[in-house]
Amino acid sequence: MLNIVLFGPPGAGKGTQAQKLIDKYKLNHISTGDIIRAEIKKGSPLGKSVEGYIARGELAPDALVIELIADYLESKGKDSGNIFDGFPRTTAQAQQFDKMLLSHGMKVDMMVSLEVPEQELVQRLLLRGSTSGRADDADEAVIRNRIRVYNAQTAVVTDYYALQHKYTAVNGLGTIDDIFARLCTVIDAH
Ligand code: AMP
Repeated sequence: MLNIVLFGPPGAGKGTQAQKLIDKYKLNHISTGDIIRAEIKKGSPLGKSVEGYIARGELAPDALVIELIADYLESKGKDSGNIFDGFPRTTAQAQQFDKMLLSHGMKVDMMVSLEVPEQELVQRLLLRGSTSGRADDADEAVIRNRIRVYNAQTAVVTDYYALQHKYTAVNGLGTIDDIFARLCTVIDAH
């Protein structure tokens, strides 16, 4: 069972690459961002409680996101390997995640981080905003805040996995297929 944390700043291409990876390696996929957006769309109490954070480009509270992951692990996460996309985003989430996985006899095998310079991220996200319908992609101030939050709270999570010798950085520039090939090389070497 292969459990991969697909990491990187907003706009790095995690969602796009996750789709290709799940096909090739027959993995389940969880994106905490997708789940949160679906809850907001439904107008559920959970959705209502996090709407403001997402609109501002801030992180949702750790406890809430942990709960989403716990539900996922209970339902389908323990049946096969997984790609965790957009999670964990804080060291506290990574610590709790390890405990949760351990209780299911599971572990993170590797964290692969897509590296993309900030200027390119902003351009990609603005472009995506014109078609994705995501309000947090349409507003440059919110995009910049998401990148700021990534640098301040999320980037440090690489240290957590580096200490466990599980972290690899991958160049996130180039065509979708180029980047996919780089990811596959890292995964196949595991
Ligand atoms: P994403 O689709 O991964 O870019 O996530 C969209 C938004 O959902 C983020 O800007 C956060 O507000 C929230 N979110 C997604 N995943 C997490 C997480 N692991 N921790 C905290 N907030 C999250």
